[in-house]
Amino acid sequence: MQQDMQRNMQAVRIHEFGGPEALCIEELATPCPRAGEALVKLEAVGVNFIDTYQRKGLYPVPLPATLGLEGAGSVVATGPEVRSIKPGDRVAFADVRGAYAECVAAPEQRLVPIPDGVSADTAAAAMLQGMTAHYLSQTTCKLGAQDRCLIHAAAGGVGLLLIQMARNAGAFVIGTCSSEAKAELASAAGADAVILYTEQDFKTEVQRITAGEGVTVAYDSVGKATFEDSLDCLARRGRMVLYGNASGPVTECNPASLASRGSLFLTRPTLFDYIASREELVERSSEVFRWVREGSLDLRIGHRYPLAEARAAHEALEARRTTGKVLLKPGANRGFAA
Ligand code: NDP
Repeated sequence: MQQDMQRNMQAVRIHEFGGPEALCIEELATPCPRAGEALVKLEAVGVNFIDTYQRKGLYPVPLPATLGLEGAGSVVATGPEVRSIKPGDRVAFADVRGAYAECVAAPEQRLVPIPDGVSADTAAAAMLQGMTAHYLSQTTCKLGAQDRCLIHAAAGGVGLLLIQMARNAGAFVIGTCSSEAKAELASAAGADAVILYTEQDFKTEVQRITAGEGVTVAYDSVGKATFEDSLDCLARRGRMVLYGNASGPVTECNPASLASRGSLFLTRPTLFDYIASREELVERSSEVFRWVREGSLDLRIGHRYPLAEARAAHEALEARRTTGKVLLKPGANRGFAA
């Protein structure tokens, strides 16, 4: 270790899978960076829906676990064999376990530099949801002016970013959400049409809006409650991108139904396969940061909670009370060297 550090830190852990009450704030030993790792003092931690899946055990993690995958802050120490970063560097990440904490020991290879002029809050808000919207709109489907997209949960963290990237690519965008206030946010982000899917039948509305043509791509992160109707929104040879389970996982799909609905394509992607290599992680994050700096991508940080209030953040996220990004802010002034 290259600097003296406080020995203990606060972290939010689970000892068993469960509801938001399973989250406990605890005092833990500050990790010591091993070979190839850097110790990052976190200024901002991203809350993502995947954290709730891990907390519930839908995506099991070894217990006890410090939740969280995303954050931004400064390097305070490095382990042996770290070559590209040094104490004082500002870095961000989207796939390092244990981010709900004041510090995390992260592999150097999974850290990206935060560009000048980008705050830690913005960096933490841009990484996981930004790169998700990026791969969905640029790689899983390379959207263009010929596309008409359906984007569920349009006022959420991924949703607001995906609307903007789809619109910037020239696509026509139909968003869905659960309230008028959320619909206003989706429209402001650029959605051409917004459907209140808790009040209206979105399948009927999509057919009406597209004059019976359907959409070329359906981005479905809601899962169980919307999957079947989303398939029915697709045009012939349309692409169904099922990328989340906010209402519960989809557990059944008969491939023959893809044929009878018009030779549809179905994919169930995950970000981690789209940033698996260092090169792809750096390219994707750099482009997201470039768009943020240029002003072509507006990051909406809807909610900030102290780290110790992670439970309240999860409750709000799962009760559909959040919009845009949710951040946790680890306590300041706890004496870490920076
Ligand atoms: P969001 O901010 O979008 O929050 C989830 C939203 O889902 C809610 O605000 C709500 O919007 C909607 N929703 C619909 N039904 C439910 C329900 N029953 N319970 C709770 N919420 C519901 O979260 P994120 O941006 O973090 O993630 C969005 C989705 O994308 C998640 O499903 C997540 O798992 C997925 N994801 C997938 C990735 C991948 O690579 N596969 C990577 C990142 C995220 P409304 O009130 O408008 O319905």
